[in-house]
Amino acid sequence: MMRQILVTSALPYANGSIHLGHLVEYIQTDIWVRFQKMQGHDVYYVCADDTHGTPVMLRADAEGISPCDLIERVHGEHTRDFAGFHVAFDNYYTTDSPENRAFCEDIYLRLDASNLIDRRSVEQFYDPVKQMFLPDRYIKGECPKCHSKDQYSDSCEVCGSTYTPTDLIEPYSSVSGAKPERKASEHHFFRLSDERCEAFLRSFTQSGERLQPEAANKMKEWLGEEGESTLSDWDISRDAPYFGFAIPGTDGQKFFYVWLDAPVGYFGSFANYVEQQKAAGNAIDQDSFLRPGGNTELVHFIGKDILYFHALFWPAMLEFAGYRTPTKVFAHGFLTVDGQKMSKSRGTFITAESYLQQAMNPEWLRYYYAAKLNSTMEDIDLNLDDFIARVNSDLVGKYVNIASRCAGFIIKRFDGHLAAATAKDNPVIGDLQAQADAIGALYDAREYGKALREVMLLADKANAFVDANKPWELAREEGQEDKLQQVCSDGLNMFRLLTIYLKPVLPVVAENVEKFLGISSLTWADTQSLLPGGHRINKYKHLMTRVDRKQIDALVAANTESLEPTPQSHSRQRHAQHQENVVEKNTQESKPEEEPFITIDDFAKVELRVAKIVGAQHVEGADKLLKLTLDIGSETRQVFAGIKSAYDPEALKGRLTVMVANLKPRKMRFGESQGMVLAASGDGPGIFLLSPDDGAQPGMEVR
Ligand SMILES: [Zn+2]
Repeated sequence: MMRQILVTSALPYANGSIHLGHLVEYIQTDIWVRFQKMQGHDVYYVCADDTHGTPVMLRADAEGISPCDLIERVHGEHTRDFAGFHVAFDNYYTTDSPENRAFCEDIYLRLDASNLIDRRSVEQFYDPVKQMFLPDRYIKGECPKCHSKDQYSDSCEVCGSTYTPTDLIEPYSSVSGAKPERKASEHHFFRLSDERCEAFLRSFTQSGERLQPEAANKMKEWLGEEGESTLSDWDISRDAPYFGFAIPGTDGQKFFYVWLDAPVGYFGSFANYVEQQKAAGNAIDQDSFLRPGGNTELVHFIGKDILYFHALFWPAMLEFAGYRTPTKVFAHGFLTVDGQKMSKSRGTFITAESYLQQAMNPEWLRYYYAAKLNSTMEDIDLNLDDFIARVNSDLVGKYVNIASRCAGFIIKRFDGHLAAATAKDNPVIGDLQAQADAIGALYDAREYGKALREVMLLADKANAFVDANKPWELAREEGQEDKLQQVCSDGLNMFRLLTIYLKPVLPVVAENVEKFLGISSLTWADTQSLLPGGHRINKYKHLMTRVDRKQIDALVAANTESLEPTPQSHSRQRHAQHQENVVEKNTQESKPEEEPFITIDDFAKVELRVAKIVGAQHVEGADKLLKLTLDIGSETRQVFAGIKSAYDPEALKGRLTVMVANLKPRKMRFGESQGMVLAASGDGPGIFLLSPDDGAQPGMEVR
């Protein structure tokens, strides 16, 4: 059955940068949306910047710009970061929009007409210099218990005690420094304690599986025993001056609290999208998504910290203002990095921008998050060593490997043509096709980790098939042409099926595979067909590189904030310069190669010779280098090699190794380096110098 789904992610606040913690949610939602679209469902994924409130107003003030200028700039930054991670919103809008204002006013007036808005006097801190009411967190003072200075108004960071803001000694405004006054003003409340709201929320949170079981239980606690609701009314207004929407009928003196207009922003963004589509000639029935009674779905992805707003305030507002209520509220946990909270001093508070500036592949992170995600509210951990290992082993070692092992033979030996017969009776292909429903059900249930484990088991089967049939041996044997073509064609069909299963997570890789295979955009239904016999593929281009430990180290370094303020600005500037260099370098390196192979002539240009190390010594002032004197029979060479961490110079004397003898000599600070010795290294520590077998003589050529 065709589903119609309006999907949202929580709105990021327009006062800060997108970081890897935020991305858990956007990547989780984007994968779900892409999966549902591959099923052929009508899905609209909308989001917006959450723009209103005191923090935005004060930050704009501090920067000497208007709030509108600030939120426009941040909107540009957020849009860039989301696009960088392939988060494909159908509309990314702003809460500071005419559509949102209209919905907020309508909801407020309807709630008021239903006698669910109350007006009461509230006493608050008032800054007489800024002439505005301030949220408690902008008030500081002396702790009433231990008398430490400059403590927040609700708790002391020195002795850990908590208290009420009025207990603070010598309070001052952290905005102006002035002594705040206590001043009363009229506030508007949404009467959540009303018995109608209570009855509705009991039913909404406890039936229909709208919430995850652990979230429903949490709501049960908050709602208390029947008839004894513990819900308090919700203060939805703030006094002028405030950056937001004025409340109707208050002469611009009262504004909607930012938390009222933020979720309404989902509808504002959708309405804006419907308008855009209408202008483009596509009619979408807006009311069927926003009013009750339709068979559309409204699905919210949120962090567990804002469950209260999305499972209580928001559905109650909608219910009593005549709008539809959410079908599902999916809450996820927080991100930790290497088992700890993200931290600026440890460099693990990583911004989306810095990740992209290091030229790291966003699909590595998408894959890693997906492999860790499930349908619960558990926190997920980004373990940096595991990240490297898993991406390299699963994506490069298992998945991409299948294509790179099969494509070359098809291109070179068969002019890109697959075998004439499709491999319907290959049991491995049958196994891969048979998992389509099971893997689909796991994606639908947001059990991405389980889905990807299934996919990698299938990748293992595909690799085992290639290993068992050894195309590289068939290619050397007489009369095995047909078998070679069939094995490689079957391998590519398996690769195509795996690509469908990974496409919600790896949209760009999938697009490149579609180009390489010469096929149109893959959908889930395509799992039940195969590439036709005789189909012609295009030249294979490298699909994904391995994660290098150095990239992770550079990323952490780029996000590490020094604790000493003075050298910080200098070193950060240097970081910025350094990052630009890295980006430039990496873009050059990651240019797709036209041809993944070199010819024997290319290889023959490299003159490799057996060399005897006749001298080895430390180099004054060099951390990594040893100076080697190499005997290559006819002559002696001096080479600086970066192997100091692995070898004691004395132990090297007399042993044989292999050198590049025709490398252009290079002037270094310590002297001229006349060639290069060959050594192996991997992702872990260790450098391993090459040695020829016994009997080799200095000067012998390696070929
Ligand atoms: Zn204290």
